[in-house]
Amino acid sequence: MEQVVVIGSGPAGLTAAIYAARAGMDPLVIEGMESGGQLVQTSHVANFPGFGLEAKGADIIAAMRDHAEKAGARFKMDVVERVDFSGGEKKLFTMMGDEIETKTVIVATGAGVAKTGKPGEAQYWGRGISACLTCDGAFYAGKRAGVVGDGPAAQGAKKYLERLGAEVPAVIPVANLKAFAGDGKRLTAIETDVATVPVDGAFLVTARVPQTKFLEGALAMDAGGHVIADGTKTSVAGVFAAGDCARPSHKQAVIAAGDGAIAALEARAHVALQMACQNMLLTAQGSI
Ligand SMILES: Cc1cc2nc3c(=O)[nH]c(=O)nc-3n(C[C@H](O)[C@H](O)[C@H](O)COP(=O)(O)OP(=O)(O)OC[C@H]3O[C@@H](n4cnc5c(N)ncnc54)[C@H](O)[C@@H]3O)c2cc1C
Repeated sequence: MEQVVVIGSGPAGLTAAIYAARAGMDPLVIEGMESGGQLVQTSHVANFPGFGLEAKGADIIAAMRDHAEKAGARFKMDVVERVDFSGGEKKLFTMMGDEIETKTVIVATGAGVAKTGKPGEAQYWGRGISACLTCDGAFYAGKRAGVVGDGPAAQGAKKYLERLGAEVPAVIPVANLKAFAGDGKRLTAIETDVATVPVDGAFLVTARVPQTKFLEGALAMDAGGHVIADGTKTSVAGVFAAGDCARPSHKQAVIAAGDGAIAALEARAHVALQMACQNMLLTAQGSI
């Protein structure tokens, strides 16, 4: 029986692991398919406290993971495919065929951008294609940044980039996108049905999709698939949610890390309360 299992190894999961380990909970982290989460996809992270303006996402994650391991967290390369939160103890069923029982769970499964699947997207992701205006927009001051997306959000992205001093040569609806083209190292153009638009970068402005499908029916969620949480407390006692999977807005690494810390402290309080109740019950039984 685990005291706490953290699902996800992005900033939320790793911070939760550090706090839970330091609280003596011997946490187990199930890493998922994308070890380190979204931040490893980005070359520059200029807004994570303490790492400076030139930090690389992968370096921040490596430091957080090292910290978690040194604090005593255990890691398992696996994916949670199904959960059973119907009893007091929580059960997790993994892709590798394990069934893990735990007193508390911290869901930190993040969100993935709804990708287009068009040619060149995978090759140039993080090499000119970004989904994070807040993070990467400022790098395009004086450069050309295309926007791929629809509706007001895409127009808003164009205005935001222009305010930062970027030239936005086109806003391309996803339906008109043919391919992302480059020189093998970086994105250089966006191809549409009718034209090739030269760019220094491109922003994909589609919805971020929370990675919570495996939790459907087990936890309360909003229409967009975000886990509904009061702070980090979900609809099930002992299950906590941290980071992008529970945040319809403000999807940022430092905010996810803060949520992870709160979730671990809440998990610790939950286990302590459970133990106190059990002790009171045993004492009461002994005095009868
Ligand atoms: C290209 C890009 C650039 C960005 N740049 C910045 C930036 O400069 N500054 C900034 O603050 N933010 C930036 N962000 C946003 C930031 O990366 C996220 O806000 C942050 O990573 C969220 O952390 P998280 O831990 O909640 O989720 P994630 O980082 O998404 O991590 C989720 C984790 O859950 C795991 N997982 C998912 N499903 C399962 C499952 N079923 N079982 C087990 N594990 C599972 C995944 O493998 C992953 O390890 C950027 C995002 C992108 C995509």
